Amino acid sequence: MLRSFGVGAIVSSTSLGAGICREVAMVQGVQDLELLQKLHVGVVVHAADARVIFLNDRACDLLGISKRDMLGALDLMPGWSLQDEKGHWLSPEDYPVNRVISTRLPLAEQVLGVVRPGIEGVAWAMVSAFPVFDPRGALEKIVISFYDVSQLKRTEAVLKERAEQLRFVLEGADLGLWDWSILTGEVMRNERWATMLGYTYEEIEHTTMQWSDFVHPDDRERAWASINAVLAGRAPTHKLEYRMQHKDGSYRWILDQANVTQRDEQGRPTRMCGIHADVTERKLLEEEVARQARTDYLTGVFNRRHFMALGGAEIERARRYVSELSILMLDVDAFKRINDRYGHHVGDAVLRKLADGCHSALRSLDVFGRLGGEEFAILLPETGLAAAAEVAERLRLLLAEAQVPIEGGQVVRFTVSIGVASMSSPEDSIDTLLNTADRALYAAKHAGRNRVHTLSS
Ligand code: GH3
Ligand code: MG
Ligand code: MG
Repeated sequence: MLRSFGVGAIVSSTSLGAGICREVAMVQGVQDLELLQKLHVGVVVHAADARVIFLNDRACDLLGISKRDMLGALDLMPGWSLQDEKGHWLSPEDYPVNRVISTRLPLAEQVLGVVRPGIEGVAWAMVSAFPVFDPRGALEKIVISFYDVSQLKRTEAVLKERAEQLRFVLEGADLGLWDWSILTGEVMRNERWATMLGYTYEEIEHTTMQWSDFVHPDDRERAWASINAVLAGRAPTHKLEYRMQHKDGSYRWILDQANVTQRDEQGRPTRMCGIHADVTERKLLEEEVARQARTDYLTGVFNRRHFMALGGAEIERARRYVSELSILMLDVDAFKRINDRYGHHVGDAVLRKLADGCHSALRSLDVFGRLGGEEFAILLPETGLAAAAEVAERLRLLLAEAQVPIEGGQVVRFTVSIGVASMSSPEDSIDTLLNTADRALYAAKHAGRNRVHTLSS
């Protein structure tokens, strides 16, 4: 059983180390070589019976042992041991020198931890070993070289710890992570990236295509454009909100923020990393706030502000396409009396009835808003004055038929007066159009109410 100073079976894996191994092996009387003594790589040469026949100064330093103790030694020094990268102890058969003796094969790039007698801690070495045969093919020597990688191991441990910390932070912040190797197309993702979309980590593929497939078709172009702008150096960062499809078929709003983290020598991006945050709740809330901001709370139709904004856009469109545009202005007749007689809540019900009635009778491109009180306005795109007057008349009749149920099984009826105006010049604005319609409405009231009056602007 060979129990050589197996620790010496620690060999450099660099080409320098390998070259040295061969050179040492070929030269007789290697003990005399000044060159080997000066090397920063530890070199130990064993005879075929594992006896140590040469070691240089650096080997003594790294192994914490003297030449005197080592040369000719066959037995392992007490207190000496080797471990693998995971910290498992190696049995003597697995020591590099013994492995080469038993397999007659070289051994390269093995990281081993060395526990030395009387020295605290583990020294880490990158080890290579090389057999030398005599002309008859018998094993003659085993050359082992090694160098200290303790510092590298410490750096690796720090990096590992940092990566762990980052993982904890991302998980704590509920963020999905993606790390795209642009040249291979592979994308590393964390578990949260998958669970955000209802999948397990195992269910997702690690490709860019899968991301693209998940993105809402209407958002895909925008999302790629943002990423490509960063890749091309036209934008510093990618920061975008878009929809991604959840496993259940619904869409989630994702805030995606990313940067190029690596470039090649020519400055071309080779790696991009980003994070996903699920912002669906916030997005829905924003949408609801925005919806409320443009809606009249009582009737659910557009409020005055939004009606005016849309009106401006419609005027602009009519001007650009030289198309017709008309406006109706409705006002409930003697509404004050309804309120006085039946109460405010019945007045409210009348307004809702009016809104529902008009809504169901209008086209989807018509713009319907409550200007205030019991006054409403309707924009009719691509509609001339005569056609608009017909619409107004139809609405007037429809609303006159409407019944608002009240307590005691009774119903309340109401009528409206409607002023109609049309855009007649490119100079018309939404205000001038409304003004004309208001004058027409006034005329309708003056003429006795429950009627339509038309005025060209
Ligand atoms: P006219 O035929 O000339 O239009 O007479 P009118 O009574 O309809 O007009 P007036 O402007 O005198 O009265 C409008 C009333 O509408 C007064 C106001 O209290 C009432 N009103 C305004 N907003 C609301 C509302 O949101 N709900 C209810 N129930 N009443 C409202
Ligand atoms: Mg009125
Ligand atoms: Mg009024």
